[in-house]
Amino acid sequence: KICSKVYLIHRRDEFRAAPSTVQKVRESENIELITNALVEQIKGDASGVTGIVVKDKTSGAARELQLPGIFVFVGLDVRNEVLKDESGKFICDVTPGGQVAVNLKMQTSVHGLFAAGDMRQDAPKQVVCAAGDGAVAALSAIAYLQGHDK
Ligand SMILES: Cc1cc2nc3c(=O)[nH]c(=O)nc-3n(C[C@H](O)[C@H](O)[C@H](O)COP(=O)(O)OP(=O)(O)OC[C@H]3O[C@@H](n4cnc5c(N)ncnc54)[C@H](O)[C@@H]3O)c2cc1C
Repeated sequence: KICSKVYLIHRRDEFRAAPSTVQKVRESENIELITNALVEQIKGDASGVTGIVVKDKTSGAARELQLPGIFVFVGLDVRNEVLKDESGKFICDVTPGGQVAVNLKMQTSVHGLFAAGDMRQDAPKQVVCAAGDGAVAALSAIAYLQGHDK
């Protein structure tokens, strides 16, 4: 709603989002859908991003778009590899979706290990919430180090 032009580049031909959302996007005059395509290159200079090269997956044809910004959003997987041991097992409790189980103090199931932000369970996935989580986790870590968290 705040951009004059948005390109939505998607790897597949169809969308898994709610049909009503897809419909709204299709009806938006400022959104151009580029499906069955991959971003091959992001171009830039000292000012930042200046454009991208998009390649059609079927024909292989490349297209260059001039634009001042790119937002990368691929899937909903939680980046939790850092919490796995050498055998690939999680070192603390996680949900079936791989989100880290925490309490309101951002304490995980492992004493002295804290999680905050998008990787924690039920995360609202908003910057302000992640920052708040970080502050809570930091205070909990201080309490842990001072032995006041029992
Ligand atoms: C396209 C897009 C648009 C968004 N728009 C909005 C918006 O308008 N408003 C809003 O509030 N939120 C928005 N969000 C959500 C917001 O970006 C996140 O909620 C927020 O960034 C989460 O912060 P975080 O610190 O938990 O995770 P991140 O910001 O993802 O930071 C995690 C960091 O950890 C690093 N990392 C991962 N694994 C390791 C490892 N093993 N070792 C070291 N470092 C590691 C990553 O590289 C990354 O830098 C948007 C997100 C996306 C993708």
